[in-house]
Parts: sequence; structure tokens; C-alpha cells
Amino acid sequence: MSNELRELYQEVILDHGRTPRNFRDLEKATAQAFGNNPLCGDQLTVYLALGADRKVEDVTFKGNGCAISVASASLMTEALKGKSEGDVRALYKAFHAMCTGEETGPAPEGEDDALEKLRVLSGVAEYPTRVKCATLAWHTMAAALDGEQEVTTE
Ligand code: ZN
Repeated sequence: MSNELRELYQEVILDHGRTPRNFRDLEKATAQAFGNNPLCGDQLTVYLALGADRKVEDVTFKGNGCAISVASASLMTEALKGKSEGDVRALYKAFHAMCTGEETGPAPEGEDDALEKLRVLSGVAEYPTRVKCATLAWHTMAAALDGEQEVTTE
């Protein structure tokens, strides 16, 4: 990764960490879960409004955490809105692989650009303790999809 790219990624993370998008309650939420990362002290609640077809009509979050956990949650809400459950789960898997450095080669041709936008967080792969910060919102969102109330990284 070039230094310029690294700086750009940091800018985006700081921006989303300071001014998170979709940081609010969701009155019409049909699913929600609480995620806890005791290692860092990150605590987030993710709210999902799923349509009859299980498509994500809206997704928001609230909570407290480090810049990486908040930025990741903010970027996640932007990435998931309007997606089908299948696409959401595929993106979760791809994002998790990216954060843990387990990506197998470049993204397939024609893949939507959602994963590219999340690439700003790929640097955490070099910092194992930060992986839990970056993936907390995603684990929490997946728990909500599965009808679970709570998830912890421990
Ligand atoms: Zn954290």
C-alpha cells in the first residue's frame, strides 16, 4: 500500500469516526442487536429495517467506540442500504476476509463497488487487535439478521 493511499484511507476513517453516517435510532427497525468488544470498549447497537423480501430498507446504529469501530459501522450502513439479504451476507464474508488478511486474490469482475469503498479499513489486517474493532458492527448486524440479540467478540 502506498503512503498516499494509506493517508487517504486514514482521512476517510477519521471523517466517518468523527461524523458517523446513519447514527440514530430506527423506529421502524424489524431487527436489532447489541455488539460488545470488551478488548477495546466498543459497544454498538445496529438497527435493521428489513422488507417483506428481507431486503435492507434502512440500517442505522448507535453506541460508543474507538474511531475504527465507529467508522466501520458508519461505512457499513452506507454499504448495506438497499441490498438483499444474500448480498449483505456475501459482503460480510468478503469484508471479514479483507480485515483478517484472508482475501484470496482480487475481487471478481463485475462485483459491485461496495467492497471497494470498505477497503479503507483493509489496513487493520496488519493489527490483529484492531480487526475486532473493524468487524464489530458487521458481527452485530449479522446477529440481528439471525434473530440474535447480542454478540461479543470475546
Ligand atoms: Zn475499538
